[in-house]
Amino acid sequence: MKKKLAKHSGSCQCGAIRFSFGGVLDDIWFCHCTQCRKNYGMYGAFVGTLRENFTINKTRKLRSYKSSADIRRTFCGTCGSPITWDRKGYTRIYVLAGLLDGKVKITHGKHIFTKNKGGYYQICDSLPQYKTVPK
Ligand SMILES: [Zn+2]
Ligand SMILES: [Zn+2]
Repeated sequence: MKKKLAKHSGSCQCGAIRFSFGGVLDDIWFCHCTQCRKNYGMYGAFVGTLRENFTINKTRKLRSYKSSADIRRTFCGTCGSPITWDRKGYTRIYVLAGLLDGKVKITHGKHIFTKNKGGYYQICDSLPQYKTVPK
């Protein structure tokens, strides 16, 4: 059976940055690494999409920060919402799931970098957990 290609859209908190992408939603990645913790206050929740399916309004408000040699994180310069996690050479770009419009349901996913997890919360679901990333 062929699945209908859904269209997903999202925005930052103030609405200056809007994006959309089509396709079946990927796994959700809950990243507990130290960078995500400092960036998002807890863990990062990302959903990947193929670059060519992703469109974003590139206003001057879209800022970016190079968090590693080949990784760039974008955010809104007005409200500070994190937007994407973008690794050079990857076919996918990762969007912060919390920015998606509506009540998007994703039940499949994984926890990564749990070795860096904060001590002030628990992982309370049965999704697979990886100390770093799956091999
Ligand atoms: Zn904003
Ligand atoms: Zn992370």
